[in-house]
Amino acid sequence: MSDCLFCKIVNGEIPSKKLYEDDQCLAFYDIDPQAPVHFLVIPKEHLASVSSVNEKNDAVVGHIFSVIAKLTNKLQLGSYRVVSNIGGQAGQSVFHLHFHVLAGRDMTWPPG
Ligand code: 5GP
Ligand code: ZN
Repeated sequence: MSDCLFCKIVNGEIPSKKLYEDDQCLAFYDIDPQAPVHFLVIPKEHLASVSSVNEKNDAVVGHIFSVIAKLTNKLQLGSYRVVSNIGGQAGQSVFHLHFHVLAGRDMTWPPG
């Protein structure tokens, strides 16, 4: 999608600090980290949020979770949180599906 910030990160129009990339997804560090480790994992295909996932495109979500497991193991993050905000009330500000991975500090529950 031409006016989507994360599509621009996928195609290199906007630079990012990349952690991992393959044909289906990209992992890069958040520009405004909320924890000592904070990166995002996104599908390369534009999907607006979890609400756009269906039987035809859900393979990428499983793939993203296996990438999250691989990266967090490699970074030796014993404890971490995976978050996806859906819609404005939940705090979504970029409408391209993404999973936050946060680690390195104590976290509270429930989240604010
Ligand atoms: P959301 O609020 O939609 O759940 O998460 C969007 C995230 O994208 C935020 O944590 C925000 O800091 C991050 N973000 C926004 N613009 C950029 C950018 O240009 N580069 C990077 N690396 N992260 C960004
Ligand atoms: Zn997009």
